[in-house]
Amino acid sequence: MSRETMEYDVVIVGGGPSGLSTAIKLKQLDANLNVCVLEKASEIGAHILSGNVFETRALDELIPNWKELNSPIKTKVTKEKFLFLSKNKSLSWPTWLLPSVQKNHNNYIISLANLCRWLAEQAETLGVEIFPGFPASEILYNEDGSVKGVATQDMGIDKEGNKKDNYEPGIELLGKVTVFAEGCRGHLGKQLIKKFELDKGKSPQQYGIGLKEIWEIDEKNHQEGMVMHTAGWPLDNNTYGGSFIYHAENKQVFFRICNRFGL
Ligand SMILES: Cc1cc2nc3c(=O)[nH]c(=O)nc-3n(C[C@H](O)[C@H](O)[C@H](O)COP(=O)(O)OP(=O)(O)OC[C@H]3O[C@@H](n4cnc5c(N)ncnc54)[C@H](O)[C@@H]3O)c2cc1C
Repeated sequence: MSRETMEYDVVIVGGGPSGLSTAIKLKQLDANLNVCVLEKASEIGAHILSGNVFETRALDELIPNWKELNSPIKTKVTKEKFLFLSKNKSLSWPTWLLPSVQKNHNNYIISLANLCRWLAEQAETLGVEIFPGFPASEILYNEDGSVKGVATQDMGIDKEGNKKDNYEPGIELLGKVTVFAEGCRGHLGKQLIKKFELDKGKSPQQYGIGLKEIWEIDEKNHQEGMVMHTAGWPLDNNTYGGSFIYHAENKQVFFRICNRFGL
């Protein structure tokens, strides 16, 4: 059984904010382009973790009338706090002393997963074909070494690599252009970085460890629109990091702690 082939002008790998925005922009520039987006999660947004403080500048440029299109961007930041923590105390730092990247006036608290679901709707309205549940697992190359597309994984292979009765070959998606928008640790991206030495002469990437939870809290403790950052405890003086606490709608709080700022 050979692989089925589908041809597009542009194949986009990854249905996160970057992949979906790319698809929308391409269709805005030329409605006749055939554009598809492959997403490995079973539905758009299912692998997007972030409860997010969102600056709308890029979206203002991409979809200027987003406020009229029932977007899930509703909760404006109304209050900000920055606390230095010790084990038993906290010291509030005046927000006007913070660097501009830590100031969130005019930003929103959103679920990035819901934003992606909404971006996918906008993309589909423009005619983008979106394939959730399709991980791109292999990069396909032309004879001259340029990328010609990707293939999805073969199904029905046992752990020794033999074909089982339910074997189905993957599909080849060929594009005049292939865009890799897998996020920061995509396995195809890592292969491309290595093959084309895309990191040559560049600063190495840095990584941090973060824990993230969404809490539903008591109404009396909830302050919709509040953004709070903390530094200090439980990290020691040599560890770079802190916590982020965003009060979203529906009594929800997006909480995360990480050992490095800027994640
Ligand atoms: C804990 C955390 C908190 C954050 N908080 C904020 C914040 O408050 N404000 C802010 O602006 N930014 C924040 N960010 C950063 C923001 O989430 C990223 O910048 C953004 O998600 C990057 O978008 P992306 O589309 O490049 O990648 P991603 O969001 O990672 O999306 C990649 C998509 O591609 C899919 N995919 C990957 N590989 C394949 C494959 N081989 N085949 C098919 N599909 C594939 C994934 O399933 C995913 O849906 C945060 C990030 C983290 C981790």
